[in-house]
This record gives sequence, C-alpha cells and structure tokens, in this order.
Amino acid sequence: MKLIDGKKISEKVLDEIKLSVQNRIKNNLKVPHLAAILVGDDGASKTYVNSKIKACKKVGFKSSLFNFDDSISEIDLINQIEKINKNDDIDGFIVQLPLPKHIDQDNILNMISPAKDVDGFHPNNYGRMTLGLESFIPATPAGIIELIERSEIKTEGKKCLVIGRSQIVGRPISILMSQNKSFGNSTVTVAHSRSKDLKKLCLDSDIIISAIGIPEFIKGNMIKKGTSIIDVGITRVEDLSSPKGYRIVGDVDFKSVSNNVEYITPVPGGVGPMTISMLLKNTLKACKISD
Ligand code: NAD
Repeated sequence: MKLIDGKKISEKVLDEIKLSVQNRIKNNLKVPHLAAILVGDDGASKTYVNSKIKACKKVGFKSSLFNFDDSISEIDLINQIEKINKNDDIDGFIVQLPLPKHIDQDNILNMISPAKDVDGFHPNNYGRMTLGLESFIPATPAGIIELIERSEIKTEGKKCLVIGRSQIVGRPISILMSQNKSFGNSTVTVAHSRSKDLKKLCLDSDIIISAIGIPEFIKGNMIKKGTSIIDVGITRVEDLSSPKGYRIVGDVDFKSVSNNVEYITPVPGGVGPMTISMLLKNTLKACKISD
C-alpha cells in the first residue's frame, strides 16, 4: 500500500506558488490578489474563508475579505460582485457557499467574471472544462488530478469508477478522467445514489474516486487487489475516546481496504489539504493571464 500524502504534496504546491510570487516581485510584476465574499456569520464558512486568507499570506498573495450581513439582498450582492469584477487589482475571487436561502446561488455564480472565477463554477469555465479547453478547474477535482499526477498513478486505459455526481467533485472529475489528454484517458463509470450493485462496479475498477459522504462505506471486500483509491469524503463521526469527541473519516474503511490497495489517500490528510492550494494556483494563473 502506498499512501498519498496530500499534506506534503499541498505544501510542495504552496512552495512552488510562493517561489512564483517571489519571481514576479523580482521582475516588477503584479502580486496576485485573491478576494473572498462571505455573507453572514456561519462558523464553518468563516473558518474556510480564514484558512484561504491564511494560505494567501503564506505564499505572499494579497487578500481581501468582503463580509456582508446575511440580510443583504440578491441585487445588492450582485452590485458588489460587479464592483469586484471591475477592480483591476483583484485577480480572482470566490463567493463562499452556501448563501442565505433568499439568494439564488446560480444567479450569483453567473455574475462572477469568468476571468476571475478561480473556483471554476461559472458555466463558462465549467463548459470550457467539459470541452477540454483552457479554464479554471474547480479546486477539489484539480487537487485530485495533482495528487494522481504527482504520485505517478497511470490513468490511461484504466477503469475508473467515480462515486458521486455533485457539481463540485463527482461530475467534474468524471469529465476530467475521461478527457483525451495526458491526464485522463480512463474508461469512466459514474455511480450515484440510484446505482445498482456498487460492489460489482467497485470490484471491476482500477481506480476508485469516492465523493459520497457516507463514513467508511467502501469495504475491503468491495475492491480487487491493486486498486488505487482517492477518498474525497469527509464526515465527522462521534468518538468519545478522542479529546474533541469526534474524528474525521472518509468514505473508505481504510483498515479493511489497506491490504488490497496500491495507492490510497488518507482522511484526513489526503484530498482535503489540496483544495486551498489549487484555489491559489488558479489565482496565480488568473494573475498571469492578466499580465
Ligand atoms: P454531495 O454531498 O452533494 O452528494 C453526495 C453524492 O453521493 C451524490 O451525488 C449522491 O448521488 C451520491 N451517493 C449518495 N449515497 C450513495 C450511495 N449509497 N451510493 C452511491 N452514491 C451515493 O457530494 P459532494 O459535495 O461532492 O460531497 C461528497 C463528500 O465529499 C462529502 O463528504 C464532502 O464533505 C466531501 N468533500 C470533500 C472535499 C475536500 O476538499 N476534500 C470537497 C468537497 C466535498
């Protein structure tokens, strides 16, 4: 079993970004600037945004936080987005989700300038990704690609099962795994909540990318020897033996699959740490495009 160390790979990506920023400064080029819009004061959203801002500081990016009250109307939020779209100093920005119920998430994401859409959720970027054109790839699937490439897992001609069809993970990674590029060329099956006989699908796969959110759902008897697993799932389960009273587990029953897998991402410490690094990588790309 080879463990894919997402923490280590993510640190390496951040170091590379930091070096690029230092080179840009030496060459009198603009320092990348990431902005985040946060609506309301949801604790988890605040934590996510703060860790993105902390990561910006680490690599030498500029960052800005636009925090609006959760009573902001959709039209006022759109006006704020238009202001950021026009602000030449900001290279990329994200709208932290979820938004309050009275705001239509799709309307908001559609207002982000595709050139600054470093989360890659604007239909323009999503469509370009689907067409295999240059685009901002959403951070989690981009992180999965980085993990697979840097671990030198071969994807060409492999049978890849993607479990989950969400817009942020399952759908995009299934598209990317099947694309005709140096990364991809897998034969992809997408499974979801209505799929029948998941065990059979798993047993028939060389690579499994699981993004379900059901703790320890994939067991050792569901995979064949030599399977590589990317476990995207993150669930908190009660654990009274832990000081916090809970632990974080993935979709995969790590212990029971460990004898059969070739490569596996742990949870925590696998896909999770990659997400912020890939957001910053997209921001650096946006900044370079606007040079
Ligand atoms: P989601 O929560 O929107 O949907 C879950 C998906 O799982 C659906 O497509 C559903 O069809 C599928 N599913 C549910 N039950 C199933 C079953 N029994 N068999 C097969 N498929 C089933 O998906 P999401 O937002 O992609 O999140 C999935 C998991 O990934 C969650 O645990 C989430 O926390 C985690 N996640 C992690 C990261 C990260 O950075 N590591 C990023 C995003 C999501």
